Amino acid sequence: MKQILILEWENQFQCVGGKCPLTCCGGWKIELSDEEVKCYQNLSHPFGKEIVNAIDEEKKCIKQSGNKCPLLTKDGWCRIVQECGEDYLSYTCAVFPRKTHIYGDTIETYVEIVCPVVASYLLKPSKIVFTINELDDTAEQDADYQLYDALSFARTFLIALFQTYDRLYNTGKCYILLNIINAVKQLYQTGDLNKENLISQLLPYDREENCMEIFHACEQIASNLELKSKRFHMVITKLAENKMLEMLLFFVKSEELYENFNHWLKDFRQLQTDIQAFIPYFRKNYACLVENYFVYVLFLDWIPQKHKMEGFGENIKIKIVEFGLIQLCAMSVWKQHGKIQEEEYSVIISGIERVVAHDPEMAGKLINLLEEEDSIAKVLLLLLC
Ligand code: SF4
Repeated sequence: MKQILILEWENQFQCVGGKCPLTCCGGWKIELSDEEVKCYQNLSHPFGKEIVNAIDEEKKCIKQSGNKCPLLTKDGWCRIVQECGEDYLSYTCAVFPRKTHIYGDTIETYVEIVCPVVASYLLKPSKIVFTINELDDTAEQDADYQLYDALSFARTFLIALFQTYDRLYNTGKCYILLNIINAVKQLYQTGDLNKENLISQLLPYDREENCMEIFHACEQIASNLELKSKRFHMVITKLAENKMLEMLLFFVKSEELYENFNHWLKDFRQLQTDIQAFIPYFRKNYACLVENYFVYVLFLDWIPQKHKMEGFGENIKIKIVEFGLIQLCAMSVWKQHGKIQEEEYSVIISGIERVVAHDPEMAGKLINLLEEEDSIAKVLLLLLC
């Protein structure tokens, strides 16, 4: 019997179409398969020629025009759908932002935060909910159920950790998350990765007093403003050196925000003052974002695709840096207007997710940035929450 694990957001998701601040194709390429390119080339529909003109045959994607799909109308609607109907959409466009991961007899489905509507769910105080249903289908024979079972058990444990304790203890929760990533890696390297061994690694974190001790120690690290500001100053310097600031702020599209980053580069004390004022504002208005972000990340990135365990946990570490970048951009908007609206936050989250997902070079540089961090404590300073 197969089973399907669903991130409940999938049921509530509704595309806002022309009202979308980003649109599905904003700032990134829509990939096409060989079959899809051929299919569009052989289309007998009168609109077929326009579609073919929009295709980059060599790169197997739809070209970009002004960082958008050239087949979009001025008010943000898809002309393929308008002219030919939904059946003519490519697979990427048809399923976006829905995604599926298959692990043997378990199918996991979700919607991606590269869509700003989905990203806005992260800002709602309600807990993320998952449902599991059985499917009337036979299970696969060759899947590594033991590995899925062990990793899925640890994921459930970590999600419960994020959702149970106070939202103010996020730094400590991420510390435990990083420790468990290391424990899983070690068990894998010695060939001992199974549910039983994982349970014994999780056991210390099952005791409330142990967790509280870690949370309080991590709060002390997180509250060291001088160190935190130095970390962020270093991050902004590296981004500027690598010409990554423009890319990062591409979706926010504001000269003033860019100037804030330049200001912080030159004036470390101003950065420190802004961080000091931004954190209480964030905690009062958006504290749920950290919990929801990491629960979402755990659901998506904890169990490696095709069970490829090499590099286990790297995606999650990138997400910690990515979260720091989201917060930097959010702080820049807040500095400009004295507040940040949900819609602005959602566009920042989706935009940075798009930049990192579609730019392997950016992701690579983020990993390098992280590898220069020589202790978990220093990485945690990047949380800005
Ligand atoms: S990004 Fe999301 S809300 Fe925007 S057009 Fe695409 S599916 Fe709709």
